[in-house]
Amino acid sequence: MNQRIAVVEKILGANEKLAASNRLALDEASVLGINLMASPGAGKTSLIELTLQNLRHQFQIAVVDGDIATSIDADRAAAAGAQAVQINTGGECHLDAVMLQEALGQLNLDEIDLLIVENVGNLICPANFQLGTHKSILIASVPEGDDKPYKYPGMYQGVDALVINKVDLQPYIDFDMDYFRRGVEALNPGLMTFPLSCRSFEGVEAWINWVRDLATAS
Ligand code: MG
Ligand code: ZN
Repeated sequence: MNQRIAVVEKILGANEKLAASNRLALDEASVLGINLMASPGAGKTSLIELTLQNLRHQFQIAVVDGDIATSIDADRAAAAGAQAVQINTGGECHLDAVMLQEALGQLNLDEIDLLIVENVGNLICPANFQLGTHKSILIASVPEGDDKPYKYPGMYQGVDALVINKVDLQPYIDFDMDYFRRGVEALNPGLMTFPLSCRSFEGVEAWINWVRDLATAS
């Protein structure tokens, strides 16, 4: 085996072990963990705000925000009523299980029902680093273009659900929804999909209901 590949596999193996221990900590405290991934600007923070507004009266929700340099997103989550922990990745372009472990150490998991992790905006490497959360969600958005499943297949393959945000912009943008969905279906057959808009609120209810059912069951 090529030495570089061996090193990468060792790092990923260590990450998976830590992810498993994060999962155990979440399970022991009956916390549902969700990992939100997307490119920058797809609407991760907006979807988190909307989810908080709809579910904060029913569940204790914490948000862990991965950001390269700022706390803007964590501040927005806190303003929307969540316990928020900021992880500055120091330039690193994804979250890993060590970073989530450190964030979990700052939370009292016994007081939390739902943990939403906002990953760093990036369509490549977040897919390679398990965190230990129960569900991985990808947010695509109409302005990014309909070719993204074809260009970033790894991201679409490993997720449990797909949010298609900004559907209210479809009349103004050349986005062929059938072409997009065919690409998704080839990579992740039968993937649960939520077309919605965080701005016009269309389609939001299905997403909220899905998260509510999962959080209730965990
Ligand atoms: Mg954000
Ligand atoms: Zn990265």
